[in-house]
Formats: sequence, C-alpha cells, structure tokens
Amino acid sequence: MERTLCIIKPDAVKKKVQGKIIQMILDSGFNMLGMKMLQLSTKQAQKFYEIHKERPFYNDLVEFMTSGPVITIALEKANAVKDYRELIGATDPAEAKAGTVRKLFASSKQENAVHGSDSAENGIKEVAFFFSESEL
Ligand code: ADP
Ligand code: MG
Repeated sequence: MERTLCIIKPDAVKKKVQGKIIQMILDSGFNMLGMKMLQLSTKQAQKFYEIHKERPFYNDLVEFMTSGPVITIALEKANAVKDYRELIGATDPAEAKAGTVRKLFASSKQENAVHGSDSAENGIKEVAFFFSESEL
C-alpha cells in the first residue's frame, strides 16, 4: 500500500466542488485515512511548497494557497501516487486529459483544484505534514 496526499485547493472549495472531487477519489478505489478542512498560514504554505521556492510562481502560489480554506485528505491504495496523478491529470488543465479532476474543475495552471504527491516517499512525508499517525 502507498500513501498520497490530496489537497483540495481554495479555488475548488470556493466553487463548492469538493464533494464531487471526493466522490471521484472514492470511486477510483482510494481509502481515505484522514481528512481536515483548514486555513493554511503563510508559513505553512511556504514550508509545504519549499521545493518550489526558487521558482517564479512561488510567491503567487503561497498567496493562492492561503486565499481560503483547503481540505487535506490522506489517501491510501496500491500504486496510490501514480493512480491519483492519473485521476487528477496534468498540472495545466489545458493539457489535462478529458474526465480528469483538473480538466473538469481547474481554472488555470495555478488554480488547478487539487494537489497530489509526486513520489511514494513524498506521499509519506506530505501526509505526515498534516496528520499525526494517531489521526489516521
Ligand atoms: P503538480 O501540482 O502537478 O505536482 P508542480 O509540483 O509542478 O505541479 O507545481 C506545484 C503547484 O504550483 C501547481 O499545482 C500549481 O498550483 C502551481 N504551478 C506550477 N507551475 C506553475 C506555473 N507555471 N504558473 C503558475 N502556477 C504554477
Ligand atoms: Mg508537485
């Protein structure tokens, strides 16, 4: 079993499509180990996206991720990282395949509805960023 972290981003929460996104995840065979709705602080968002801190979009990304509540979901499944990234589609909705979460619900490359971990190792780390083991 592998873990991956889903974040339903502020754009999707504002659009009230979180229910549809959660249903798509469940219908794709993922187990939900934990879920939280929270408002990220600037420090938390900066730390979570630290890997991108030299990228030109970093400050905008932090501002966007703190612009409203998000929903973090700890997911588990065999091949969770790859299967979840297939379900959400490419970072840029213009490049995402039909039927993917981002094609259906993202507004732009930045406001792209959901986060997903990019490796099994980061899946474990990112789940631990938001959840203690006793919450899962
Ligand atoms: P992904 O979320 O698909 O793993 P990245 O890790 O490359 O994508 O980027 C993290 C997040 O930063 C993206 O989901 C998106 O919100 C934002 N982002 C990435 N590239 C850009 C860009 N060129 N312009 C604006 N925002 C971007
Ligand atoms: Mg990424």
